[in-house]
Amino acid sequence: MSESKTLPFNAEVRQLLDLVIHSLYSEREVFLRELISNASDALDKARVVALQEQDFVAAAGEPRIDIRVDSVNRTITLSDNGVGLTHAEAIDSLGTIARSGTKAFAEALKEQKHNLIGQFGVGFYAAFMVADRVEVRSQSGHSDSPGVIWTCDGTTEYTISQGERGDRGTDVILHLREDSEEFLDEARLKEIVKRYSEFVGYPIFVGEDQANEPKALWTRSPSEVDDEEYNTFYGQISGDFMPPATHLHWSADAPIQYKALLYVPSAAPHDMNHADGRRDIKLYARRVLIDDAAAFLMPDYLRFIRGVVDTEDLQLNVSRELVQQTATVDKLRSQLTSKVLRHLQSIAKKDAEAYTGIWEAFGGVIKEGLHNVSSSKDKERLITLARFNSTRSDDASGQVSLAQYVEAMSEDQDTIYYLVGTDHAAVSRSPHLEAFKRKGIEVLLSWDTVDEWAFPSIETFQDKKLVSISRGEVDLGDDDTTTPDVSEDLAGWIGTILEGEVSSVRTSNRLTNSASVLVDDQFGVSNNMQRIMRQLNQALPAAQRILEINPSHALVRTLDQLHKDDRKSEAEPLAWLLLDQARLVEGEVRDPVGLVQRLQVLSTLAAQALGVSPQAAPHPEPAAEPAAEPAADAATEAADEAPVVIDGEVLDASGAQLSE
Ligand code: ADP
Repeated sequence: MSESKTLPFNAEVRQLLDLVIHSLYSEREVFLRELISNASDALDKARVVALQEQDFVAAAGEPRIDIRVDSVNRTITLSDNGVGLTHAEAIDSLGTIARSGTKAFAEALKEQKHNLIGQFGVGFYAAFMVADRVEVRSQSGHSDSPGVIWTCDGTTEYTISQGERGDRGTDVILHLREDSEEFLDEARLKEIVKRYSEFVGYPIFVGEDQANEPKALWTRSPSEVDDEEYNTFYGQISGDFMPPATHLHWSADAPIQYKALLYVPSAAPHDMNHADGRRDIKLYARRVLIDDAAAFLMPDYLRFIRGVVDTEDLQLNVSRELVQQTATVDKLRSQLTSKVLRHLQSIAKKDAEAYTGIWEAFGGVIKEGLHNVSSSKDKERLITLARFNSTRSDDASGQVSLAQYVEAMSEDQDTIYYLVGTDHAAVSRSPHLEAFKRKGIEVLLSWDTVDEWAFPSIETFQDKKLVSISRGEVDLGDDDTTTPDVSEDLAGWIGTILEGEVSSVRTSNRLTNSASVLVDDQFGVSNNMQRIMRQLNQALPAAQRILEINPSHALVRTLDQLHKDDRKSEAEPLAWLLLDQARLVEGEVRDPVGLVQRLQVLSTLAAQALGVSPQAAPHPEPAAEPAAEPAADAATEAADEAPVVIDGEVLDASGAQLSE
């Protein structure tokens, strides 16, 4: 026997314990739900491991959960004959925050989101809501593993030692706090089991009596199951106690015989985008669980779906790896996928409000499918499911489908236009939109990274091509506004000034108010995509872009005059400003010091144009009232010396940093 060891909890657990013990929970009784759920998981795992590992020790008797009360010693003992814990697993899972529910809970705590508590099970540590000492005795099913005893009084440390339990499984012994004696009453415990754990797939005994009736809810006919039962079952399998957004329950006979009960949660699971996030689809073969997290039954873009699938057509004794490779599973996945997509389509049709909620929570994930989907039918379904913001509404929440977009198009429009950028503000006010707004042509707007892939993947909808308006040339047909003439070679001349910064300069068809805009090459990688790849640390060679200039704009006309007068050196800062502006509207500042200097040149010019004498005024007194007409030179000189704030940093005019 090894001696016992006392080990400290990590900081997350201490924080969690502190909260659990010192907060007054109105529903302390949920400790039982959490412990039963762990026991049920342990029984699930044992079933799956036993299929995979031949020397895994069999359980004594049928899988079950037992709750026993000892009123003399004031303890409750929860026992299961599930997978059990090894010494190392006990340290790993009970001494630190394990995965899933408890971990997310601890993260929410760190971020002070105490109001989120209701969304998470508090897991194993919920035991300390009612107990001042918890003892875990466990025997793992791995034959070479000795039994383990883990004890803790809810402080900052726990003790672990070896000890025999005998059969495979786990006992959790709660030494109840004085204020928790109500839980020594068996009738009360039965009532709690009924309330929270009715659909646990294993019999739960309180004393001698079975307190639940494990029934495979999915084997019943949908007409015999009410919403409350569906919701309770959902909570049981997912650990999410908010009612789901919708469920689908059906059975099929061909080509595969199966029953399925699937749910769309009402909010995105916190670990939806973690590679090791929970994937709660349980796969049964003739009522026997063969995989408790059969993620392979859903495509990745439907990874938020929870539920149970039970088929008559799979062998019981095959490993998870083999199951995944069977043709039956392939067929199952494609059946389940199209069923889920059709269900979402019908919600979108019948209940726009409910669909909006689902799309808000999961649209970003569903759109991944547009790029990845292999079946063309599913792709069509996905296209009808997709919703996008558009110039139709200023409000970031107003979204349209492609069908709605096409319906609103004028007869001579044969293209679906879109623009993807960094955020709502940048996209909805982008200069790229100017010509479209003037002509009343709707543009789909997105600031969702996934749309950089989604739009090009759609390619066409109802024979209309999808085209990015930040790429290539824009041809919106004849324009009734007359463009003022500028020298034919002005663009080329500006191009020589900006050489190395842009691939070319050309006169624009898309601008009304802005002086300039940067355009992506028709076939190259878009600027936004480059930005995304940089964030993913996969920088691509920088592509040069095209600068389009607006011949109606005063700045461009000034440049034209300077060009005609052959005053290139004076034109330089102004030409650069065209590029600066185009970058700024995209949220990019490349050379802040140079930009400030160019702005100073511009203010000097403005002062001269206003006829304000450079010598007219001394430096303004710091606290003086601003002069009604600030002297030009003062402005320029002040600009020379006054600190300038760029990107939150205070710089003096030379660009040196003044404050941290
Ligand atoms: P989780 O959200 O992972 O269930 P918990 O805090 O409830 O977090 O549990 C921590 C871990 O302790 C579980 O993931 C599991 O590995 C282990 N565990 C808890 N109860 C049992 C049990 N009855 N049998 C086996 N392992 C258990």
